[in-house]
Amino acid sequence: MRFLVDGMLGGLARWLRILGQDVRYDANTKDNELLRIAHEKNMILLTRDEELYHRAIARKIPSALVLGETEEERLAQLASTFGVSLNVNMAETKCPECGSDLKETPKSDVGVEVPQTSLNLYDQFWKCTDQNCGKVYWVGRHWNRIRQTLEEAKKRASLEK
Ligand SMILES: [Zn+2]
Repeated sequence: MRFLVDGMLGGLARWLRILGQDVRYDANTKDNELLRIAHEKNMILLTRDEELYHRAIARKIPSALVLGETEEERLAQLASTFGVSLNVNMAETKCPECGSDLKETPKSDVGVEVPQTSLNLYDQFWKCTDQNCGKVYWVGRHWNRIRQTLEEAKKRASLEK
């Protein structure tokens, strides 16, 4: 499954990547270009723009009008509509910044990117495989927020069924 996300949904693009979805996002892509890419690459267009949504549907491009105001609402909609899993599996998580694959990387190789306090506290690190990005991730304290958001999204998704 591959999603093409419009410029207004950057936060959602990051969430979908964390959830392991293949996502293309570029804040500067114009509407006509979005339609062309979605059509040519057979991607699902996610947008907050009602006019763009209707143009996509008229061209038989799979699309969803994402109306939720919170990430929980938006994620619940995608779980209900497209069956997107709301569980994080680090083996499948993509880089939230650029969408490339992550690779588990030994602590000894991330000493430059990761603060010493986090190196002391955590043992597992993942590095973006894109040479130009190379961001390093770990399941730190901020993951409590991530888990809360996903739990809330799951509750909403089950109500929508
Ligand atoms: Zn990256």
